[in-house]
Amino acid sequence: MGSFPRTPHDMAHNFWALPEEKTRRPKHIRRLVDRGEESHGIFDVRNYKHMDVVIGAGLGGGSLIYANVFMIPPDEIFDDRWPSSCKRANLIPYYAIAKEVLGSRLIPVNNDPRRRIIREQLFADVAKKNGRNSELVDINVFFGNDFETPLPIGEQVRNRYGALQTSCVYCAECDIGCNYHSKDTLDLNYLHAAEHRYQAVVATEHLVLKIVPTDQNGEDDPHADGSTGYKVYYRDLLSRKPEVCSALANRVVISAGSLGSTELLLRCREHFRTLPRISKKLGQCFSGNGDFLSILLGSNMPADPNYGPVITQRTDYNLFRNFDPSRAFILEDASYGSILAWFVEGAKPGFLHLDAVRRLLRHLYTQLTTGKSPGSLGWALGECVLADDSSRGVTSADRKTFGEVFEYRNLYVANGAILPTAVGANPTGITGVIPDAHLSD
Ligand SMILES: Cc1cc2nc3c(=O)[nH]c(=O)nc-3n(C[C@H](O)[C@H](O)[C@H](O)COP(=O)(O)OP(=O)(O)OC[C@H]3O[C@@H](n4cnc5c(N)ncnc54)[C@H](O)[C@@H]3O)c2cc1C
Ligand code: SF4
Repeated sequence: MGSFPRTPHDMAHNFWALPEEKTRRPKHIRRLVDRGEESHGIFDVRNYKHMDVVIGAGLGGGSLIYANVFMIPPDEIFDDRWPSSCKRANLIPYYAIAKEVLGSRLIPVNNDPRRRIIREQLFADVAKKNGRNSELVDINVFFGNDFETPLPIGEQVRNRYGALQTSCVYCAECDIGCNYHSKDTLDLNYLHAAEHRYQAVVATEHLVLKIVPTDQNGEDDPHADGSTGYKVYYRDLLSRKPEVCSALANRVVISAGSLGSTELLLRCREHFRTLPRISKKLGQCFSGNGDFLSILLGSNMPADPNYGPVITQRTDYNLFRNFDPSRAFILEDASYGSILAWFVEGAKPGFLHLDAVRRLLRHLYTQLTTGKSPGSLGWALGECVLADDSSRGVTSADRKTFGEVFEYRNLYVANGAILPTAVGANPTGITGVIPDAHLSD
């Protein structure tokens, strides 16, 4: 709470970059590294040939900077590329659990004038003019533990897991980290319960480098299949020392995100050759979620875009109703924090043309999120995809071994990396969806 950077200086250093890595990053981030600075900020921005990716590097991962929306994709998304155990009907009970844990809900509506978000009505009016309906979406934002009666704005209380949260103050800063703990980020629910209720030891800023199967004596054995455990090699970045540490484990669950999990497994298969039997499908079926950002300026109606959680509603265009894969999308509203709004207002006298303001906004936003070309935001999914066998994917879709890496025992992937395809809309529900038994023991 209160630890997310806000000053221009701190924001400029709020990026992830390590001197020894080969990752392609925007120039201003590389400059930090070239100066020998190791930067542990939250925005891990990577440039690829056709896509830039923003990853949340912190306890809670992308949930720290995401837009809070919880949405269950329509039936049609789970097409032939999804194994039979992962069709929508099978996943619904797990989405329900994730929804419960994340505290997803519609934004509260009542007579309190401070709960009125002007852009909501404008957005609804635009939808109507286009012959569509807009509807509120479930968001993982805290308005108190009682969903029927919201806690007054700004009041603090412990949530169901014991973490202190603030009833959302409508500051619109969701995408740069909520300083009030009003976003239901994973560190306040899943990870908080793991740490405080089940005594999990959480070690932040520990970078996993390599995973090696071990023999019965706990020695590295790259020929083993993991039945007798693994050794995980990592660097403690907080110590600022180059030494590599290690830990033994009977079971390893990799949750380093689509890029992190894939990168780690690829390194183990190709570079260290410690997990040589991983499927050749590793690294395939990658996709962004196809989200595009656009900004409308110059409206003659005030929209007050610096107020309220970042997304509150959607208008459906052939995704949830009358599904048409050739033109399916949803349109969502968005707010942006007043830190950006102050800058724009302050700059206005020097930029009398709206076009300049538009360019400035676009430039600032893309510098912050991608450091490069404006327009689209990639969210990475896939690459360690679920399948019925290793010729078609990397991890098992069988209910008894769900998420286990083919050809290995006790080695799992559990995050966005296992999704066979993009889901067409905000995908976070998957964070908590792990069908069945095996992991529970
Ligand atoms: C700006 C933005 C807005 C978004 N809005 C939404 C939204 O409204 N709704 C929605 O559903 N989704 C949204 N998303 C997407 C959502 O945040 C991701 O799909 C989700 O966070 C993926 O979760 P994950 O567990 O797969 O991986 P991540 O959340 O990426 O977690 C992986 C973690 O592992 C760490 N890691 C990686 N490699 C290593 C390593 N070698 N050693 C140690 N740690 C490592 C990473 O630093 C990270 O903390 C948004 C994303 C962004 C960037
Ligand atoms: S609007 Fe977003 S950033 Fe602001 S308090 Fe609410 S959840 Fe947090």
